[in-house]
Amino acid sequence: MTCQHENCQRTVVVDCLKPEIFERVRALAGGAVTVEEVNWEDYIEYYCLQHCQAHGYCWHCGLHQGAPPRLDGEGLCDGCAEAQKLDE
Ligand SMILES: [Zn+2]
Ligand SMILES: [Zn+2]
Repeated sequence: MTCQHENCQRTVVVDCLKPEIFERVRALAGGAVTVEEVNWEDYIEYYCLQHCQAHGYCWHCGLHQGAPPRLDGEGLCDGCAEAQKLDE
């Protein structure tokens, strides 16, 4: 798998979950669709650590952070930035 960013050839990528995946998960939980009916690949993008941020994803957890993305200077979302602080 290579990064989906234009002209990027990096092969170390993060599985990035598109925001729409959560609607699908909710539909699944509500019984509106079955697991077989969801094409999960449609809801996942692959970006390298450098490009996650450009596309609004946290490189640590791969979750989309909305627009404008709520990411700190290192490209981490609030939750991951908090977890990193605790590690130090
Ligand atoms: Zn890239
Ligand atoms: Zn995160």
